[in-house]
Amino acid sequence: MTTGPWDVVIAGGAVTGSATAWWLLRMQPGLRVLVIEKDPSYAQAATALSVASVRQQFSNPVNVEISRFGVEFIRNFAERIGPEGGIPSLGLKENGYLFLAGTEDGARLMEELAAMQRDLGAATEVLDPDALRRRFPWMNFDDVTAGSIGARDEGWFDNMGLLNGFRASARAMGAVFMHDRVTGVERDGERIVAVHAAQAGRIACGAFLCAAGTGSAAICRSAGIDIPVEPRKRTVFVIDAPNARHPGAPLIIDHSGIYLRPEHGGWITATVPEVDGPCDEGDWEPDHAQFEDAIWPRLYARSEGFDAVKVTRFWVGHYDYNTLDQNAILGRWPGTENFHIAAGFSGHGLQQSPAVGRGLAEMILTGGFQTLDLSPLGPERVLENRPFLEKAVV
Ligand SMILES: Cc1cc2nc3c(=O)[nH]c(=O)nc-3n(C[C@H](O)[C@H](O)[C@H](O)COP(=O)(O)OP(=O)(O)OC[C@H]3O[C@@H](n4cnc5c(N)ncnc54)[C@H](O)[C@@H]3O)c2cc1C
Repeated sequence: MTTGPWDVVIAGGAVTGSATAWWLLRMQPGLRVLVIEKDPSYAQAATALSVASVRQQFSNPVNVEISRFGVEFIRNFAERIGPEGGIPSLGLKENGYLFLAGTEDGARLMEELAAMQRDLGAATEVLDPDALRRRFPWMNFDDVTAGSIGARDEGWFDNMGLLNGFRASARAMGAVFMHDRVTGVERDGERIVAVHAAQAGRIACGAFLCAAGTGSAAICRSAGIDIPVEPRKRTVFVIDAPNARHPGAPLIIDHSGIYLRPEHGGWITATVPEVDGPCDEGDWEPDHAQFEDAIWPRLYARSEGFDAVKVTRFWVGHYDYNTLDQNAILGRWPGTENFHIAAGFSGHGLQQSPAVGRGLAEMILTGGFQTLDLSPLGPERVLENRPFLEKAVV
């Protein structure tokens, strides 16, 4: 199966790798594409452990444009990928995102960002506390200076449907998905000539894409490439709050440092750990204290309906966290002819996969981005230590 030569070899077969394989074959039927995935159950992939939401409210125009394309693609997924994808709908639920600001500076920034987002086609509106109270009478806004909400194009959807659809449709077009672990790449000057896998050994390749999430830094190192990407642990809680059932609520990004969104009559909620830093790749221990110490008091402060709460479920996921600027690193690595990278999504890569897959396929096939210019997210900024900061990181 693996006897090449392969035109493109992709390390990591979750949403980024699968979306790129799909776009490659859409753009160039017959291309020989091999995707190497170490765990086809995806049990620890961020894709499977995602909160699976899409928003237009980013601070960088390129991220807004990526999500403009993403939400359209997600909404029309079945048509986009065709019957081979086997996914009739991703069940996009457009409840919106509600960002809450707690300072006057925060409110001013919200106005600026909303104007930029609207210029790009988003429907972000900024509401003052009185308007927020009228709209969400069950919430307390005494500590809030403004809230921005997307009236459309924001919400949540089926993450595994997105992955499985891309994968099945890519396979139907000829992509091969192999269960193996990439141990490194073989570099000859500026070219990656082969990929090494634990079982299959040496696999010759024309072009290489590293889309291995938190496993990307190790693969990059084998090519002499350093990326500022590390695993960071996030514990997500599913709760039932009988006195706060608001299934029509948006995903709320609270300035107090928590987020929550409705799910099956209850809520999903999480926070950024007080002391945030790299975690061990094998650390899947939930941080239970986070709920009692940090999340619950803030939920109650936002609505007294959270007086009685039961944690019904929880899970741990790892962000592939870009310590330079919390944005994806996308494109061909400078000084190489054919090493491509897509990592460092820092918690917003699921919604980005349709546009990122397309951009990477364009880059691999033509040497440049053709539709949406993703070069602000290019790897050059890493080498130049020039952060491209995203203010709206959740
Ligand atoms: C708790 C949580 C909540 C999130 N919420 C959202 C959200 O609401 N919206 C959003 O857009 N994004 C969200 N994200 C982020 C999003 O899920 C990720 O950015 C996205 O799924 C990244 O996809 P990926 O394919 O690049 O990486 P991953 O999904 O991490 O996949 C990488 C794959 O590479 C494989 N791999 C690793 N090393 C190797 C190797 N050496 N050889 C072969 N295979 C290898 C892994 O097994 C894995 O399947 C969230 C993430 C987490 C953890």
